[in-house]
Amino acid sequence: MATIFTRIVEGEIPSYKIAESKDFYAFLDINPLAKGHTLVIPKKEVDYIFDVEDNLYKELFLFAKKTGKAIESVIPCKRVGIIVFGLDVPHAHIHLIPINKASDMSFESPKLSLEKEEFEEISSAIRSAFGKM
Ligand code: 5GP
Repeated sequence: MATIFTRIVEGEIPSYKIAESKDFYAFLDINPLAKGHTLVIPKKEVDYIFDVEDNLYKELFLFAKKTGKAIESVIPCKRVGIIVFGLDVPHAHIHLIPINKASDMSFESPKLSLEKEEFEEISSAIRSAFGKM
């Protein structure tokens, strides 16, 4: 059965899209730790990120780098933190999270509750920044 992220890529489940290429897709996390919290995935379904084939793995991180640069150009923050868990969704994904201190990366913290309009505004701004890079 297709993963939830494959269903997002295929448009079966809606998402706040940030960027897309032939091999990759970036979209806002629906339960964000911070405004601009983004997930970057390979379209190819691979569960564990270290099982992603070498070339695709390198390209995935380059795509995440460009996405991170777009995020930091829009969301005020000291850095965009990068983390991989993959404990919930069995489809490799990189979390990109705007942070000002280490604890901003804690998944133990409460998640933000954003309105649809805020998700749309944030994704539109980051998408536009990505397009100019
Ligand atoms: P992990 O697998 O890295 O532990 O966590 C999976 C992440 O995917 C979580 O941060 C969760 O909020 C996010 N997530 C799970 N389902 C969806 C979804 O349907 N849409 C979006 N945009 N994010 C999701």
